[in-house]
Amino acid sequence: MKRVIFEPEHEQFRDSVARFMQAEVAPYAEKWREEGMVPRELYLKAGAQGLLCTWADEKYGGAGIDDFRFEQIIIEENMRHGDIGFYINLHNDLVAPYFDKLGTEEQKDRWMPGIVSGEKILAVAMTEPSTGSDLAGMKTRAEDKGDHWLLNGAKTYISNGILSDLVVVAARTDPTSRHGLSLLVVERGMEGFERGRKLAKMGLHAQDTAELFFNDVKVPKENMLGDPGQGFRYLARFLAQERLVAAIGFMATAQTAFDITLDYVKERKAFGKPIGAFQNTRFKMASMRTELDAAQTYVDQLVLLLNAGELSAEDASGAKLLASELEGRVMDECVQLHGGAGYMEEYRISRMYTDARISRIFAGTSEIMREIIGRGLGLDERKLS
Ligand SMILES: Cc1cc2nc3c(=O)[nH]c(=O)nc-3n(C[C@H](O)[C@H](O)[C@H](O)COP(=O)(O)OP(=O)(O)OC[C@H]3O[C@@H](n4cnc5c(N)ncnc54)[C@H](O)[C@@H]3O)c2cc1C
Repeated sequence: MKRVIFEPEHEQFRDSVARFMQAEVAPYAEKWREEGMVPRELYLKAGAQGLLCTWADEKYGGAGIDDFRFEQIIIEENMRHGDIGFYINLHNDLVAPYFDKLGTEEQKDRWMPGIVSGEKILAVAMTEPSTGSDLAGMKTRAEDKGDHWLLNGAKTYISNGILSDLVVVAARTDPTSRHGLSLLVVERGMEGFERGRKLAKMGLHAQDTAELFFNDVKVPKENMLGDPGQGFRYLARFLAQERLVAAIGFMATAQTAFDITLDYVKERKAFGKPIGAFQNTRFKMASMRTELDAAQTYVDQLVLLLNAGELSAEDASGAKLLASELEGRVMDECVQLHGGAGYMEEYRISRMYTDARISRIFAGTSEIMREIIGRGLGLDERKLS
């Protein structure tokens, strides 16, 4: 279905992003999967091309574009023509906004130029070995020591854990309150900040996912983002955009899997005819086409609401839930339609299948998305019982 939210300038931008991904990412993706991460230079190249934080102020090197459709295009073209291992959306749209929206002028002057150029790669560390969905249960703590915070704890499953130069760490600063969290920027090289294992995963092989340890790290007071004790509120606020960003990516991978499969079923023959000629194939493809178009329309609409400053947590959770569940079903059908080839790593669809399994888990599980949407309907057990 024709998508109606884009103007000619978006389409022009899409062409240039696709060319970048085809030239700078796709040819090396297999090598990076073997190496378990993308090279730092890729961020510098993306920065030089103007693909890091298009929304950032011009004084920091950004383009100052207040239109999320440009970021949407970067995510989509990376998924289609680049590689999911290049976690450009984590950098651009999940972590950099913490610096932009919560940072003081001094902090932005200090960090934003490197973030926009790609010299400073970003990560956000919330999840801990003993808690993920239940963010308020985190144990990493930071004690007020006058001129610095003394940070102790461990984080796990952190994307860009190895590559990152600046990590936004959620830590408990008020031990008396379950929600007494704050956000601290931990910088590469700080004493006591150690990277643990780069974790072996089912998919996303070019994306580094690691453990982080903080042992008496002295984080200067100037490295706190926003106000102390407000971290939980900030996380909740930024997670809405994060979930829409996730949904944009899931739709792009599902659409790509569909296209790959459509080509495949026209070529592959069984019983003397292309498998696309079987009614079963036609019906499966038709159902997927329809569901993809419907979900894409929903996600596109939410991008416009984000642009208007009206994206709600419930709508973003709905998009994440819908897109990730649909992506999972589409990947499964597409592997099935590829037959044995769908199980072979040399076929892209096989890798996409394992890459996609995380979509229903990270950035908040499907169950947590349903909880958020349900509570928005007034179905909150604390209020109803
Ligand atoms: C590849 C990868 C990258 C990641 N990147 C990052 C990152 O960059 N930064 C970061 O901080 N984290 C990251 N994560 C962590 C991710 O966000 C968490 O794994 C996720 O939020 C789930 O938390 P958990 O693993 O602790 O699962 P748990 O919270 O232990 O959940 C286990 C199961 O219980 C269910 N459950 C939990 N609570 C409820 C409830 N109230 N009602 C119903 N069911 C419930 C869950 O839905 C799930 O099915 C990443 C994870 C992976 C695998």
